[in-house]
Amino acid sequence: MLATNYRGTQRIRVSQKPMPEIKHPEDAIVRVTRTCICGSDLHLYNGNVPDTRVGMTFGHEFTGVVEEVGSEVTKIKVGDHVLVPFNIACGRCHFCKQGLFGNCHESNTQASAVGGIFGYSHTAGGHEGGQAEYVRVPYANVGPTVIPAGMDPDDAVLLTDVVPTGYQAAEMGGIQPGDTVVVFGAGPIGIMAARCAWLFGAGRVIVIDKIDYRLEFVKNYANCEAYNYEELGDPVVFIKKTTDWMGADVVIDAVGAEATGSTMQSITGRKLLLQAGSATALHWAINSVKKGGIVSIVGVYGPTDNLVPIGNVVNKGITIRANQASVKRLLPRLIQHVQNGVLNPKALITHRIPLEEAADGYRIFSDKLDNCIKPVLIP
Ligand code: NAD
Ligand code: ZN
Repeated sequence: MLATNYRGTQRIRVSQKPMPEIKHPEDAIVRVTRTCICGSDLHLYNGNVPDTRVGMTFGHEFTGVVEEVGSEVTKIKVGDHVLVPFNIACGRCHFCKQGLFGNCHESNTQASAVGGIFGYSHTAGGHEGGQAEYVRVPYANVGPTVIPAGMDPDDAVLLTDVVPTGYQAAEMGGIQPGDTVVVFGAGPIGIMAARCAWLFGAGRVIVIDKIDYRLEFVKNYANCEAYNYEELGDPVVFIKKTTDWMGADVVIDAVGAEATGSTMQSITGRKLLLQAGSATALHWAINSVKKGGIVSIVGVYGPTDNLVPIGNVVNKGITIRANQASVKRLLPRLIQHVQNGVLNPKALITHRIPLEEAADGYRIFSDKLDNCIKPVLIP
């Protein structure tokens, strides 16, 4: 089968790989119909995630048709068209039982770290990803969800990550009616977080990025304010000024490691890290939230990144909430929001690229070319 094949920093090839096989009675094999590239894949692509091994197939956002199921799979059957959450979750460990499907204790043998994620390095379990013609889906009674009749497949594929992550970013912010919410990052996740902030009763939503076409997009899509930080001078001063010098009630970090430089550098180059770190979205978030406010982090960082200005956190009494999204927990309500027209995720898809041309997709998305918001690969 054809599959993406990581060959080293910023090198993605598409090559033939062996067909995946059922290895456990709870596995399923899914023939992929759509598979997105995510900002999280860019961390791998740019060499920011340790233990990303050459030869791995990336991809954690996919839909597909069930081709084969193991003997203990009862919740889906051959022929079902499913969307598959990016988290691999056993459904029965201490964490899954609390709805923390992103923190499953069984799907990643490095059990103290994140739960398993498809195609996300050996720090997330070393599972092969979905940017391929076929993929093995472990714990197939838990994650895969039959796509409701009538749902647009483009909406379905964005329910595997973008919609739940944006929604959870807003949810973790604990937004109260009338709150001013600032979102750093106008990629797919920041766009969805801004849109979802209104669902929790925000009174004002401000998005900050440096890419003008994305700012234009989010202004229309999420009906919010949007500013280019390169034109603002200091975004922290701007946010303070526009909130009567109080600071925002809630600030969401939907950027992650991009602004910090690479984790490899952060491990080996302390000086470089400190310089870069002082300009990150996370610093801006902590410094621009009001005293007692909440900073919600969904941006992904390297496991050892150490970027929090802790003195400001203590002195301002800030609450920091952060996690991988728990897709399965959120799916029932988010499927409803899509079906009722409250959320329109498919509007984010700007590029449809054959799987064979995945390398172009990565380049376009990473370099923010051709007004790209969200690319989907079609096997
Ligand atoms: P993306 O790369 O498309 O978007 C990131 C945006 O941040 C870009 O538009 C970039 O210009 C902007 N940016 C860079 N530095 C900035 C700064 N200092 N201030 C403001 N904006 C800045 O990525 P995406 O797909 O939107 O993902 C965003 C983040 O969310 C990534 O870190 C990704 O790994 C993470 N993510 C987390 C989860 C989760 O479950 N927690 C799930 C999916 C994605
Ligand atoms: Zn993703």
